[in-house]
Amino acid sequence: MSVFEHREFDGHEQVVFCHDPASGLKAIIAIHNTNIGPALGGCRMWPYASEEAAVTDALRLSRGMTYKSALAGLSYGGGKSVIIGDPRRDKSDALFRAMGRYVDSLGGRYTVAEDVGISVPDVEIMAKETAHVAGVAAGGVGDPSPATAYGVYKGIQAAAKHRLGVDTLRGLRVAVQGVGHVGYYLCRHLAAEGAELVVADIAQDSLDRVVREFDAHVVAPEAIAAAAVDIYAPCALGATINDASLPQLKAKIVAGSANNQLAEARHGEALRKRGILYAPDYVINAGGVIVISHEGPAYDESKAFAHVAQIHDTLLEIFRRADAHKVATSEAADRLAEERFRKSPVRERRTAAA
Ligand code: NAD
Repeated sequence: MSVFEHREFDGHEQVVFCHDPASGLKAIIAIHNTNIGPALGGCRMWPYASEEAAVTDALRLSRGMTYKSALAGLSYGGGKSVIIGDPRRDKSDALFRAMGRYVDSLGGRYTVAEDVGISVPDVEIMAKETAHVAGVAAGGVGDPSPATAYGVYKGIQAAAKHRLGVDTLRGLRVAVQGVGHVGYYLCRHLAAEGAELVVADIAQDSLDRVVREFDAHVVAPEAIAAAAVDIYAPCALGATINDASLPQLKAKIVAGSANNQLAEARHGEALRKRGILYAPDYVINAGGVIVISHEGPAYDESKAFAHVAQIHDTLLEIFRRADAHKVATSEAADRLAEERFRKSPVRERRTAAA
């Protein structure tokens, strides 16, 4: 397997293979780009079918963080790590301490946080070996979902303004797919502004809560994408915008928290051709990582949430650029991110000093 020639390599600055025989740790830390600042990104633990699958995931996720951080206005670059293992079976103190030592060996070029398969207590074990951790309970911000939901809410407001020409969500119908952590808090914001909610979930208790608290109307999980609504907010799974769902969509806006909403990149253009405004997922769902970036002894919640609210204006800029260049909003977002991280003040200062 070649790493430099890997299809997801995309000019990564550094890829570290970590092996600790004593604890059984096998991990990969990928640092895509640090022009704007040191890399920040979660650690995923997954029983990858092959080493190649683990490398592919690390490279793809790490690159994604560069784009996400650049558009969220963070002083961070993009990185991510993966531990090869089964999170239900292979976790141990020794494993996470070894991971913490590897993170520490990078001297702050990479800051680790939780991701799929890794929870706050796991990161707290890593924190015994390194200060380069984020999203821990002690001195941290805790559950990022309320911040993510707030960012999605501000993003929906921006999309409604741009596509529907309205300054309020009052009376608009919003389909929320998945009313778990983020979906629930999103429903609360939408209901408070007078939007009508149509919801779907596979967990009955989650549905009961939003029906009781926000008078939401429930539809079957397979019917939510085709619901007769103004806005469709995927907040459960990825790849909900695909060849099968696209022709059924009645919404004029797709804006939700789920990662990787487009099954393939071409679906961004397919949405544009159908006149559906898409709020690119990694822009609208950045609220969690934004508040995590504010963590520390001087954490100021109102300042962090004001930063999250900037997602509104970032999306308006992306929508305007997409219109001006007649490209998909997903493409316009990528180009704007690249402008920011490829031409960073840090890199310019370094060059000027040389
Ligand atoms: P969650 O697990 O709390 O909620 C997901 C909900 O979707 C659950 O209630 C689940 O029952 C439901 N669901 C699962 N399959 C479904 C289906 N087929 N149809 C309808 N509902 C279904 O997760 P979350 O933290 O709320 O995250 C939701 C999405 O947002 C995920 O894609 C996640 O990656 C993304 N995201 C979350 C955050 C965050 O801060 N939590 C940040 C960025 C992105």
